[in-house]
Amino acid sequence: MKFIFFPRQTLIRIFSSFLLLVIASLLLATGLYRKAQGPLENLTVLIDPGHGGVDGGTADHTGILEKEINLAIALALRDQLKQSGLRVVMTRETDTDLSPFISGRIDRHRRDLLARVQKARQANSLCLISIHCDWSEARHKQGTVVFYNYLSAPSKELALSIQEEVNKVQKKPQKAVPGRYFIIRQKGLTGVLIEVGFLSNTEDAALLKSPEYQETLALAISKGILKYCRQLIPSPSLHQH
Ligand SMILES: [Zn+2]
Repeated sequence: MKFIFFPRQTLIRIFSSFLLLVIASLLLATGLYRKAQGPLENLTVLIDPGHGGVDGGTADHTGILEKEINLAIALALRDQLKQSGLRVVMTRETDTDLSPFISGRIDRHRRDLLARVQKARQANSLCLISIHCDWSEARHKQGTVVFYNYLSAPSKELALSIQEEVNKVQKKPQKAVPGRYFIIRQKGLTGVLIEVGFLSNTEDAALLKSPEYQETLALAISKGILKYCRQLIPSPSLHQH
């Protein structure tokens, strides 16, 4: 019987592949490295940063436009949700309005909103999350409030879940409330509109302009969305003890 001798380099290659396989299996077994492969990746969330392009939305006393803050928070939220394994579709990722996507003799604002709703339906999304900033003559008014589609029970559930997480990072807890905004007032659509704060309030405006707070808020919103999504997924047959 004759032994087959492998060249040294081949042996090193085989050995290192084997080592990598062992390390990968160990990491997988301990849960340190888990690629997003759960049912979450079958769920699509549609994020809608309000306004854009010619439509700046409201503004703070320094002239910072709502559309900019909405987009910054929405992009941070997109990244958070993607990291958690969810599929994300955005109505816009740049400074643009969506009215050119809808034709007809209706005003630009309505065409813009219709295009956003259409995107949510086309994406077959589980839910629509619209991000806006509020403004009030009553300058003391502040805080993040989640409005939900009052025509749908899942919308309320989603809003309560987000509001609960958001309340953990804001000064005064707020209550999720039914909203009559066109974008969420749609039959069969699970939708919430988050007024992330009041640009008329100096404290809120300063927070909303800070990239750190934008991240904090986006993380809280994403936790609320994830909690809602996980409730929809049937629990796995394997139970952890
Ligand atoms: Zn707005």
